[in-house]
Amino acid sequence: MRYRDFHYRWEWQLRSSPESLWPLLSDTNRFNRDAGLPVVAPPAEGSAAFANAHRRLRFRRFGLTIEWVEEPFEWVRPFRFGVVRRLTRGPVVEMRVTAELKPQPDGGTHLIYQVWARPKSLLGLVVIPIQVGQISARRFDAVMRRYDEMATGAPHISAPAPDARFPTSGRKRLVQMSEKLIAQGSPPELVARLVATIEQADDLTLTRLRPYTLADYWGAPRRAVLELCLWATRAGLLDLRWDMLCPLCRGAKETSASLADLQNNVHCDTCNIDFTVNFDRSVELTFKPNSAVRLVEVGEFCIGGPQVTPHIIAQQLLAPGERRELQLALEPGRYRLRTLKQPGGQALLVTDEGAPEINLRTDEKGWSNDELTLSLRPSLNYENATDVEQLFVLERMAWSDQAVTAAEVTALQIFRDLFATEALRPHQQISVGSMTIVFTDLRGSTRLYREIGDAPAFGAVMSHFDILRETVDEEEGALVKTLGDAIMAVFRRPAAALRAMLKAQRRLANPPEGTRPFLLKVGMHTGHCIAVNLNGRLDYFGSNVNIAARLEPLSSGQDIIISTAVRDDPKVTVMIEAPENGLQIEPVEAMLKGFDEERIELWRVTEKG
Ligand SMILES: [Zn+2]
Repeated sequence: MRYRDFHYRWEWQLRSSPESLWPLLSDTNRFNRDAGLPVVAPPAEGSAAFANAHRRLRFRRFGLTIEWVEEPFEWVRPFRFGVVRRLTRGPVVEMRVTAELKPQPDGGTHLIYQVWARPKSLLGLVVIPIQVGQISARRFDAVMRRYDEMATGAPHISAPAPDARFPTSGRKRLVQMSEKLIAQGSPPELVARLVATIEQADDLTLTRLRPYTLADYWGAPRRAVLELCLWATRAGLLDLRWDMLCPLCRGAKETSASLADLQNNVHCDTCNIDFTVNFDRSVELTFKPNSAVRLVEVGEFCIGGPQVTPHIIAQQLLAPGERRELQLALEPGRYRLRTLKQPGGQALLVTDEGAPEINLRTDEKGWSNDELTLSLRPSLNYENATDVEQLFVLERMAWSDQAVTAAEVTALQIFRDLFATEALRPHQQISVGSMTIVFTDLRGSTRLYREIGDAPAFGAVMSHFDILRETVDEEEGALVKTLGDAIMAVFRRPAAALRAMLKAQRRLANPPEGTRPFLLKVGMHTGHCIAVNLNGRLDYFGSNVNIAARLEPLSSGQDIIISTAVRDDPKVTVMIEAPENGLQIEPVEAMLKGFDEERIELWRVTEKG
């Protein structure tokens, strides 16, 4: 026989805005755990993933195995989300959940949470009102109120999470290691925060600690928190991990404990694509407490909610021929609309002056090539003109700036100092995206050795390395290697490289009384290169590295030779043009050995006066 739907509707008036509640409420993995639902698992047999992100899952409840096919979540951030689950095993046929967040004039949210459940059997008729009507209803109310508090107030942790578990002497080790960290020079207030986090945060938080997210949450400088995490890893408090992220869904698809275990090609089963790993996009450094201080074990409570892919603003499943209208609230920037089944996507630019309404139709031919311009609160008319179901995904193109990428961290002096042996496998090559590569050499060092003798000259050259290492580190770069009196250094940002080298030249030319001044010849270029393992250390190769190496000989020691790629960086342009910096720039006429065919424009930067 066919039963009618049970329908539950709960409403809350919350003080927080939809935007601030969204990351908590739409983190359905956390929400389901907090609401006391069991861990989900893939089916015992058969395939777990189908077309358009449908999935087969199961869990156990009241001694029953419940198995279902889950449609992809649908959402429009930050206003609503929902999911439909069709059960293939258990006392229920279908479950539907929706959450609606309506902004209120006072800045708060009117939250409407609804559940529909259709029993399959008499058992379902009994189970649904107990599970949903009583147990979940009570839990939901407590969770909503707690999230509202977390989203309004300055969030703080004061008591250990209920799932906090420690190995024998784990707490003692935590104290000892934190004292070591302070003795080594880490800021005591940040160490205290980290210790409190490791002691009190729940497993879900600790399983993937992101230094920049912690820094933003603590109101501390990002670089300081990243350094603290690196030192804490060295001390044995944390473990570091390299997560390989899928370029489409941006989920962590593989994880490795060292760079040597990184894979070049990774498969994403959500998007059904293979991707090539590169350092600037797809490898993120994250941390987790070492199992000697805190035990962390995380089951999955939900696998498809909006927070799994937070860069996706709206996800909608449209039947063949279906049309749907969406109202959106967007931040300015670049977006893309795509479906999982068709190649390519529709490029969108969101600005103040964009169109308030736009038709977005996809048919067998896919998408138009033109970029469309949208307003900040546009209304979108989707149309699925194909003859199959399509999952429409609207995503932001900008990558989260909360990720510490491998490109960034491997170009930091402190990382190279603390993890000297962290390198790729021999013969492995990984693209690192754009790097600024600097070569320097001391002017007149041959004469110096003749004039003052080998030992004193060697000492002077060594102390010049110390000054270079210091200035490179201060500007967030890393010294890759020294070759005789020369060095190679890398920076993520060209302006930082230029600042560091101007500083180094000034310091070397004006040393303290009794020490010999040095003229430092410098050349720098910026561009794409690859990371490799050279003699067990991380090194950089490629045509752009070769160009950079050819520039330093053109320097007189009182100037810096830069390529047009460096000069055209917006921050470098601003730096050179700002009168207070006292810099001037002029073109350099030169042919680079080995690059006769290409015209490479070069520039000489000098300090005025
Ligand atoms: Zn993916």
